[in-house]
Amino acid sequence: MMGLCPFHDERTPSFSVNPEDKLYYCHGCGAGGDVIKFVEEKEGLGFAEAVEMLADRYGVEIQREQEDPRAEARRVQRRRLEQLLDRTAAYYAAYLWDSEEAGRAREYLAERGLGEEVLRAFSVGYAPSAWDKILVRGQQAGFSVAELHGVGLVQRSRESKEYDRFRSRIMFPIRDRRGRTLGFGGRAMRSDQGAKYVNTAETDFFHKSQLLYGVDRAKAAIAKAGRAVLVEGYTDVLALHQAGVEETVAAMGTSITDEQVATLSGMVDEVVLALDADSAGQEAMLRAQRVASGRRMRLRVAKMPAGVDPAEMMADPGGAERFRDLVESAIDVADFQVGLVLAATDVASPAARDRALAEVAPVLAGLGESASRDELVRRVAERLDLEPAMVMGRVVAATPASGGEDAGGGPARATAVARGTGSAPAQMTTPPAQLTSRERRERALLAMCIALPEEGRGYLSRLTDAHLSASGARAASWLREHPGDPASNLPQDPELAGVVTELVMLARAEPASQEAMELNFLQLEQRRLEDEIAAAGERDDYERRAALSRERAALVERIAHAERVGS
Ligand SMILES: [Zn+2]
Repeated sequence: MMGLCPFHDERTPSFSVNPEDKLYYCHGCGAGGDVIKFVEEKEGLGFAEAVEMLADRYGVEIQREQEDPRAEARRVQRRRLEQLLDRTAAYYAAYLWDSEEAGRAREYLAERGLGEEVLRAFSVGYAPSAWDKILVRGQQAGFSVAELHGVGLVQRSRESKEYDRFRSRIMFPIRDRRGRTLGFGGRAMRSDQGAKYVNTAETDFFHKSQLLYGVDRAKAAIAKAGRAVLVEGYTDVLALHQAGVEETVAAMGTSITDEQVATLSGMVDEVVLALDADSAGQEAMLRAQRVASGRRMRLRVAKMPAGVDPAEMMADPGGAERFRDLVESAIDVADFQVGLVLAATDVASPAARDRALAEVAPVLAGLGESASRDELVRRVAERLDLEPAMVMGRVVAATPASGGEDAGGGPARATAVARGTGSAPAQMTTPPAQLTSRERRERALLAMCIALPEEGRGYLSRLTDAHLSASGARAASWLREHPGDPASNLPQDPELAGVVTELVMLARAEPASQEAMELNFLQLEQRRLEDEIAAAGERDDYERRAALSRERAALVERIAHAERVGS
């Protein structure tokens, strides 16, 4: 079955699914694998999470090997609390649409230009003004006060009385990547309510610093776009999703944390920050750069107009276009940072120029040797009226601002959290169009080894690493170790899994014959000989080279013969 690829943008279908082998493969971008791999890629999940999600969806019970009873009890309890949060989110959502009390909230959301569709998609709700709605309903549904407390829905007064934490607030359920509700953000609807925004308190469930609002609905778009857009507010996320910028998520607070960057870097290589241009937003961007440095992630800054947040921009006609342009033309965060320093420097004062240079040197040093560094050095030199060589000297002498590992014995980075639970989008194997002729030949032969396993065994044992590319050699040894049905249990390594998938699909699609296999093998043999001849020439071993050349001449004869037989 063919269709448009979910992993890259295309107009004509190059994505195929083989229901018999239960494999997919894209001829355009090289994405491929089995159903678990598909869910991992599409949903941005790790292997175990993908298995659990599929099991959930199709009602398959997962057999856990030797789970200790306490771990099982914890899992069951966690499940129960997840249900409590889901039920509560559903209750709040229904209350937003059905109650008279929520009329002003509905008006407010409509004024912000947010339509019912997006609000329902994100399960936005409303918490009643009563002190005990959730407390009472939760207990009626069989949950204990301790459980309600445990997920942060109720809190205790000074008189030791329990009451609902969220009242008279617009409720934004905060979910993890799998779409499980872990907590809430609540926006006040009355002026006498104290804090404008209240979140679920930190619980065993809810760790604000690890969560990204909207990630469950953004992850597919993030994988497809190859980038994430990071904004500040819940309503910014809603407005942008509504406008089709679906790769948008929000950090839970102005500054982005290590764990959030870790989550994003497991999903994507590039993040565009679209934060307010005010000083809090600037501080957040610089902090983001500090936490992102040392990770393989490109951070860019979209130059938002002062005093306008993305939600406000979306409310204007043409706002979505303007926002997309800003995201497209976003500049590197180092560029942004240097721009801030230069703009704030009084160039008439030598002391201020010195300070500015001291400030930008580590930023530029962090870029390493690159064209963008040289360009920025020129800009700094020009603005501060200094010799570029002098600026470069300071940059080379500076310690990079990023510096990967903390050298000064500072606190270790929180790398353990959520690191690598996802995988980079698509692109697991070299797209077929980019293969060399030798690689195409070896793939054809390996695919035929799958199609004709009997003959395949013989060729697999005759093929050595000298015949094959590095990826071909790995695939060949996988095939030797998994004769019969290589597709039923794909390798964990994504690159190898991609190649094996491609081979299995190729084996089903292309005709195989003993003659074609022999011809491909002889051609690979010729390439091997040519490599050896070249190596002998480099060693000035002319005798060996002459012998090999004779061997090659005989081989070329055999190839010509095989071609005649084949045609
Ligand atoms: Zn594709």
